[in-house]
Amino acid sequence: MEIWNKAALLKLLWAIAFKRDKLWVKWVHAYYIKRASYDTVRVSTQWSWILRKIIDTREWLQNIGGWQVLSTGNKFSIRKTYKLLRGEFDRVQWRRLICNNEAAPKSKFILWLGLQNRLATTDRLSLWGVNCSTTCSLCRREDESVYHLFFLCNYANDVWQGLCHSLRFARISSNLHDIIEVAKRQARKKNGKLFVMAVTECFYAIWRQRNSQIFANTVLPNSTVIRDVLFRIAVRSPEEIR
Ligand SMILES: [Zn+2]
Repeated sequence: MEIWNKAALLKLLWAIAFKRDKLWVKWVHAYYIKRASYDTVRVSTQWSWILRKIIDTREWLQNIGGWQVLSTGNKFSIRKTYKLLRGEFDRVQWRRLICNNEAAPKSKFILWLGLQNRLATTDRLSLWGVNCSTTCSLCRREDESVYHLFFLCNYANDVWQGLCHSLRFARISSNLHDIIEVAKRQARKKNGKLFVMAVTECFYAIWRQRNSQIFANTVLPNSTVIRDVLFRIAVRSPEEIR
């Protein structure tokens, strides 16, 4: 967000430099820049906060190579500017599971946390020194971790299997890496969207049941959870589930 904001500010500096026909640009030139130029004018503390911020971006401009690398034809490109300011990074493996995913935003958020092992599962809570039972609240057989809770746990397994059966998917892998690989392969296929939504909503549904067991001491039967997941998919993407 910060980098995107910088790129947007540079677009305003571009307007001051090249869009002399705009009324606000004429006003800035008439009352502030006057006979100087945007890149040499002395910034005064009397100026408004936003104008000072816009003029200050000229330092970034020099660092990233000037206007010629930020424009396409005669148009300023926020996209190019953003990429230059941000630098190049490798694409994250899980992007197919999060980008263009039409599941509910809160479901996507829980999946995103889970993919990075950032959910407050009891194995992590105990590492932080929280006094809690580390046993999985749904099966009470093994210690709770993201891997156990969503894939190895009997409860989760029954939900996944029931859901795959209802949607006619092959049995889902209990390895997160495999699921990411399937999502990558399925991304451009007809039922890829449905697969990604199902994984996301199922993840969220299991997390909710885990919380319900811990905080309210109740857990829904897996058949009800599967129905709920199918309903959540159907509401957001009715044509996919027909
Ligand atoms: Zn369990």
